Amino acid sequence: MNDTFEQNVHRDVKAPKICYTAGGMLIHANKVLLVKHKKLGIWLNPGGHIDEGELPHEAAEREFFEETGVKVKAVDVFSLPGVEKKYSLVGKSKTAFPYGENFGFQPNPMTTNLHWVNEESYQLRLKSDNPDKRYPTARWKRGCEQHVGFFYLLQAVDGVTFSQNQEETDGIAWFRLADIDELETRDNIRAEIKLGFAISGIQ
Ligand SMILES: [Zn+2]
Repeated sequence: MNDTFEQNVHRDVKAPKICYTAGGMLIHANKVLLVKHKKLGIWLNPGGHIDEGELPHEAAEREFFEETGVKVKAVDVFSLPGVEKKYSLVGKSKTAFPYGENFGFQPNPMTTNLHWVNEESYQLRLKSDNPDKRYPTARWKRGCEQHVGFFYLLQAVDGVTFSQNQEETDGIAWFRLADIDELETRDNIRAEIKLGFAISGIQ
């Protein structure tokens, strides 16, 4: 991971092609709602690419709904009840343009992470005739090499009854904190989920 970080700090070297993604974590009755990703074969929080003209937290809300059928809203981490003082500035400015003021605070993500999705493409591209071009693959149609993921805490807007998205997922279920160590997933995702439980006051 340190290599990835160095790579992106020193942007004078040919940088990986970055795509921006957003996702989120819904905790309800001490459980988190996760989906089993079809392409990756692991359990994770719903999420996906941020569309053009979309704010990161809007993408997290939309992706969550698409993958679970549950309507959610992103929570600003600085507005959590456990935070000693309430630092949140969300809602303290008027609506951003085009109609209101030209500035609007948006919900802050719980984490912002950077990860490789296709390092192979990056290495091949550097050696190719045209290293500036993107090389989409069947799995990564946009030619993404790294993702920057904005990861939000979410709250349900209108109940938590889910329905599985058969196209994108192989499963959907609620998990307790005690289930997370044994979950079929990656360590970084596990750490992110545990952080979500922790800052939601669940031990
Ligand atoms: Zn991507």
